[in-house]
Amino acid sequence: MARVYNFSAGPSMLPEEVLKTAAAEMMEYGTSGQSVMEMSHRSKEYQAIFDEAEADLREIMNIPDNYEVLFLQGGASTQFAMIPLNLMTKNGKADYIITGQWANKAYKEAARYGAAREVASSKDKTFSYIPKTTAADFDPEADYVHICMNNTIYGTKYNELPETGNVPLIADISSCILSEPVDVSKFGMLYAGAQKNVAPAGVTIVIIRKDLIGNAMDITPTMLRYDTHSENGSMFNTPPCYTIYIAGLTFKWIKKMGGLEAMKELNEKKAKILYDFLDESKLFKGTVVPEDRSLMNVPFITGNEELDAKFVAEAKKAGFVNLKGHRSVGGMRASIYNAMPIEGVEKLVEFMKKFEEENA
Ligand SMILES: *Cc1c(COP(=O)(O)O)cnc(C)c1O
Repeated sequence: MARVYNFSAGPSMLPEEVLKTAAAEMMEYGTSGQSVMEMSHRSKEYQAIFDEAEADLREIMNIPDNYEVLFLQGGASTQFAMIPLNLMTKNGKADYIITGQWANKAYKEAARYGAAREVASSKDKTFSYIPKTTAADFDPEADYVHICMNNTIYGTKYNELPETGNVPLIADISSCILSEPVDVSKFGMLYAGAQKNVAPAGVTIVIIRKDLIGNAMDITPTMLRYDTHSENGSMFNTPPCYTIYIAGLTFKWIKKMGGLEAMKELNEKKAKILYDFLDESKLFKGTVVPEDRSLMNVPFITGNEELDAKFVAEAKKAGFVNLKGHRSVGGMRASIYNAMPIEGVEKLVEFMKKFEEENA
């Protein structure tokens, strides 16, 4: 069996150790006589798996007690609607910063339910930077400010959070969750789809300050209310049981790796190998301003579409897959999430050097 280095933006690589544990436990979890896939979500065995996953996540992310952790379905995209339906309810206003397609989708969905306002955007330069804001840019009466912390498609990330005063900050952390420590207490809410850095697709992690729950608009469907899920331990209906189990295995792997400080160190090392090469290469170049570069998603180009396509094809043959950039921007993108080993990045750079020599 030859496993490839998978640079997909999502679903993406999972730690080999997680896959091996899941494989070993496939036919029988513990002494339960059954696979986790087959278990009732109301069983004692499954509740223990669920509780341990939540406790481990709380430990790794240092989540304060006044925050609820919810395991929901519908992807990060469903949060684009749940956020305004539940939280744009005091003054009916919210501020959005547009740093790419996901941020824009969140904004457009919110505009269906209230006065969503675009505060700043980096669209003028194809979202290749994070727009600077000051406290004065935000409406003090906004119910929240929404940002996308790491922009998966364009490869930018917030290194400094916007100053929003007393207005709760909400961040989509789908493509950077667990990649480095975050101070949860600085946010009203954080959310992430699992399929980038945590587990297979199917679960969305929501971390929300408890006082923000319980103010949903009357029209909000029961399943889209945060209080429905917080009051029922994320089991109002059947949760994505197996995906939560895999997420739990990933949390244990991160603990073993040394937690989020260690992940950050490793991710910075990996990203530096790639960015240093892009900065010195005569053929390839990064597309993002250096100060806003993502640790997780690294877009680059040669400046020649045919050469880009040739690179992607030859890389694939050499075992480096899914390096094609997002369909909206072209070029290449290497997503180097937590589970991408450092050797994967080193070998990719070796391959890029060779390609450069051959195509100079
Ligand atoms: C992938 C992604 C999404 C969409 O997630 P789904 O789970 O497919 O809805 C939203 N935001 C960001 C930042 C993403 O990377």
